Amino acid sequence: MILYSVQCGAGHVFDEWFSNSADYDTRAAAGDITCPDCGDTHVTKAIMAPSVGKSAQPEHAGCGAGSCQGGCPYAGGF
Ligand SMILES: [Zn+2]
Repeated sequence: MILYSVQCGAGHVFDEWFSNSADYDTRAAAGDITCPDCGDTHVTKAIMAPSVGKSAQPEHAGCGAGSCQGGCPYAGGF
């Protein structure tokens, strides 16, 4: 089973389970996916947000945020 975020023609985004990617294509083409908010069946796959956490941000990467004593590019930058 695959959980896809899908978006209706009105912009509502909701999650729907499918057996596989081909199951999505079949059900989307058949109008078998219905928006729970407005009932629209013209849906597309929503853009998946990249799973990058804030820990990947460069701030204080060299010193550990919260105890910056200098030595990183962001020291004294506040
Ligand atoms: Zn909708």
